[in-house]
Amino acid sequence: MSANNAFHIAVLAGDGIGPEVMAPAFEVLRKIEKMTDLTFRFTEAPAGANHYLATGKSMPESTVRLCDEADAILLGACGLPSVRYPDSTEIMPQVELRFHFDLYAGVRPARLIPGVPSPIVGADRRGIDLIVIRESTEGLFASMGKGVVTDTEARETLVITRKTSERLFEFSFRLAERRKARGRPGALTCVDKANVFKAFAFFREMFDAAAARHPEENMFGDILSDMTAGLIGGMGMAPSADIGDRHAVFQPCHGTAPDIMGQGKANPTGMILSAAMMLDWLADKHGLESATEAGERIERAVDKVYADGIKPMEFGGSNGTADIAKAVLAAL
Ligand code: ATP
Repeated sequence: MSANNAFHIAVLAGDGIGPEVMAPAFEVLRKIEKMTDLTFRFTEAPAGANHYLATGKSMPESTVRLCDEADAILLGACGLPSVRYPDSTEIMPQVELRFHFDLYAGVRPARLIPGVPSPIVGADRRGIDLIVIRESTEGLFASMGKGVVTDTEARETLVITRKTSERLFEFSFRLAERRKARGRPGALTCVDKANVFKAFAFFREMFDAAAARHPEENMFGDILSDMTAGLIGGMGMAPSADIGDRHAVFQPCHGTAPDIMGQGKANPTGMILSAAMMLDWLADKHGLESATEAGERIERAVDKVYADGIKPMEFGGSNGTADIAKAVLAAL
């Protein structure tokens, strides 16, 4: 960062619909630049299945270096089901970045935007506004590439450490507090299996200790919040972030959607909202109110577009990538 409000953003558009949803997010950020005191320098870099096909690597060293130096990382989507390593796993530079930069907090917000249909009965009246925070470097992920498979059985070892858990809980309580301060729900729930596994009892114990340090957040039993993207309209609606102490990657929840790539059908909303999350993270990290406002402005523009009746092809409407991008830009 050269000035307090000038940010260098690493852009990894990736494969499939990744570049298609990245383009509108770019335009939105360019427009934000014109409307605020924020400035961005974008540097694009290769990563993903197509890069692997061309070079034999998921991403070059230069991409990792760029991500290290940048203020934040925007990622489209990486990997294609048809392109695999010799052991038949997919090319996932987004997961490699998690380990490389210790991005322990996987932040997956699910907010039902008014006007977007949800399969949950009553959600249109009562709303949905929750964030799933999943630890992204440990648990079974710690076993990535180390699993042992024989003819008769397969074993992967789950790891939970005090260091990562305590950082994760502090991050989560802080996020809950920041949300609450903005008038949004702020209860934090620990999802575990402490009644069965010792490792999760250890996890729960550390959560309870963190909760005692943050008495203002309520807690209630364990609920499972999976498939949250499904609750809020579809894959194309859901933003996400993988956050560490120094680095963070912002990308939509969805993958490369090879079934719709190149057809102008991809819904760029999740990518655009990921860019808004990036602004919020930069705002918090650098104490920059104008970036908080810019992130909220993007969210409001998206809300307006859906309130005005846009309907992505993803859930049966006729609006493709370009329509949605144009509408969000106009609403901004
Ligand atoms: P990954 O494993 O990489 O996360 P995936 O196998 O879960 O990917 P996606 O690529 O996310 O699959 O696609 C799942 C389904 O959702 C596909 O039918 C796809 O067309 C649809 N989909 C995903 N993203 C979007 C989007 N932005 N707009 C419209 N439809 C989408």
